[in-house]
Formats: sequence, structure tokens, C-alpha cells
Amino acid sequence: MQGPAGQYPTLQVHPGRRCNLQCLHCYSDSGPAVTEQLAIDLLEQVVADAAAIGYRVMSVSGGEPLLYPGLAQLLRAAHASGLVTTVTTNGMLLDQRQLNVLEADCDLVAISLDGIPESHNFMRNSARAFDDMCARLPALRASGIPFGFIFTLTFHNVHELEWIADFAVEQGASLLQLHPLEPVGRATCRLGESYPDGEENAAAVCEAGRIRELYEGTLEVQIDLATVPAMREHPTRVFVREATLCGAQTVADVIAPLVVETSGLVSPLQYGFPRAWSWGNIKDRSLPDLAADWLARDYAAFLTLCRLVYEQAVRNDDEPVLNWYEQVYAAAAQFSPTQVRDNLMQTCSSERNSQ
Ligand code: SF4
Repeated sequence: MQGPAGQYPTLQVHPGRRCNLQCLHCYSDSGPAVTEQLAIDLLEQVVADAAAIGYRVMSVSGGEPLLYPGLAQLLRAAHASGLVTTVTTNGMLLDQRQLNVLEADCDLVAISLDGIPESHNFMRNSARAFDDMCARLPALRASGIPFGFIFTLTFHNVHELEWIADFAVEQGASLLQLHPLEPVGRATCRLGESYPDGEENAAAVCEAGRIRELYEGTLEVQIDLATVPAMREHPTRVFVREATLCGAQTVADVIAPLVVETSGLVSPLQYGFPRAWSWGNIKDRSLPDLAADWLARDYAAFLTLCRLVYEQAVRNDDEPVLNWYEQVYAAAAQFSPTQVRDNLMQTCSSERNSQ
């Protein structure tokens, strides 16, 4: 994992929740009947503001981004502000008209792929998901737009990673990203028994390492899991750091990914992050204003929360690999910023009293 902001601080934008699919694991609860979307003029401003406060990448997700009517404008605005752009799609609607849009202003297309065809179709809740996506790959390859695949790790599918890596290389992909299934959105009611456990996570880290070596120079392999030794060695990657910004640091250097949800809410780290920790809504205030307020109000509490997760993780020898994002999410669901601050105050005052 990169963290806190990674080399390229990313703004993740979910412009609309309409989708041609209704996947079992969809964290944004998107689907064909969902019409919620953000106005393109608002998003154009957000993208310019995000670049001004230091974000370097805009990643568009959804819903299915190819169904968002303002996609071309959004990507253009991001490029005009100097951001690198990526689009995450289920790939089924990638026709020539869409490829023309992406060719103009998309730097990387990320296609969801959740295992061998049968597993993919099961997760995607569609008998045609794999074949329709596959049928689009030759034209994508011919377009020359770099592309990769994103795989959702569950309790049942680590053994399919090898197939996925071979498939990705055969198809000409340059990236394979592995993300563990999390209890968010539709997965909570449709896939409650399928979250990967510590053993599955550890197996995925080993397998990712093997694939990385096997396809070195051809396929970049990223995995959204942290190992405890890596956390110990690089605690700042999991937000164990001082709350003051140093020198020329901007908010983007200390909080990324930053997520703009379709409701307009701005969340740290991931879609649906517990609401008490939200920055606020871009429909009400500009992104730089929301950032300044959050830094002053909640950033120190957020770092305290991350430190708690870190200390628990490094004490627990039984689980050498963990989904850090999930653990911070769980801690944030348990404690609001006010509770964290109150707790801190109490700890400080009892330390003072005992001196
Ligand atoms: S996971 Fe992606 S493709 Fe599936 S319903 Fe959600 S937005 Fe659509």
C-alpha cells in the first residue's frame, strides 16, 4: 500500500451511480435504476480546486463512468488542470464512441475482473459480464490507451489469481490491482460470508509477490493489503505521523485517496467512510474551504485513530497481513472525531493527575 498520500495523491470521483450492472459486491450500491449524479459544472470546479490543493491524479469510478453524460468534459477539465486521469469500468460498454472519449483524455483504463469467467459473472450478477467485457478488449488494445484489471479478493478466490495474471498479460494489460472485498454497500447483504480472512489475505500477498516476479517488467502488481513488518518499517504510510504540515506540504500530501461521492460528500480514504469523519459537501462549500476546516477540526483526531489501529496491528502477532483500510473504517465507525478528542483530553488529564 502507498499511504498516507502515496507518490501521486489521488482524488477519486464518483460522478453518478447509474450502472448497467448490479454487482453483488458493489460498495456504492449502484445499478440500472439509480439516477443520482453530480452536475458536471460543479465537478469541473472541484477538479480545478483539487489540483490547486495538491492532488495529482483523478480517478473516475461509479456507477459505471461510461454512463455519466459529462465524462468527456470531466476528463478534459482534469487534464486542463494537470491531473493524470484514470477511469474504472466494467468494460462492457467500451464501444468506439467511448474509446474516442477516453483516447482524448484518459491516461489509464482500469477494468474490473473478479476471477475466472464463472466467478466474474457470479460477482457481476450477469451471465454476459465476462463475454461482453472480453469482446471489447481488442478495440481497447488497438486504441493504445494503457489499461489494467482490478480484482476483488474474497474468501474463495485467491487460487484464481494465477489465471487472472495470465489473462491480463495475454490481453496486453500493464497493471493488476488486487483489492479485498469489504463490508460496505451491497456486499453487506449479498456477500456477508465472503470477506477474506487473515489467511486468505496472507495467501494473496504471497501470490501477488510470486506473480510480480514472474511478470516483472510486463505487469505491475499492486495490492491493497499491508504487512505488519512493512507498517513497522514505514509507519507514516499508515498515517502514524505528526499533525502539523511541514514546509510546502499541502492537504493532498497528508490525506489521499480523497473521495467525492455522488451525493457530493467528501470522504477520506474510501467511499462510504463513516459520516462523522466526512469533510462536508461540495454542494455547500468549495473543496479548499472544506479541506481547511477538516485539517483544523478533525485531522489530529484522524491521526489518533490511525495510531490506535497501528498499535493494535503491531501488537497482534497472529495476523501479519491486514486490510488496513478496513480496520481504520471499523475504528472510525466506532469512534467519532469528538469521541476521539474527548478520549485524548481524558488521557492527558489523567496523565497530568498521576504526575
Ligand atoms: S461494482 Fe461497478 S460495475 Fe458493479 S454495479 Fe457497482 S458500479 Fe456497477
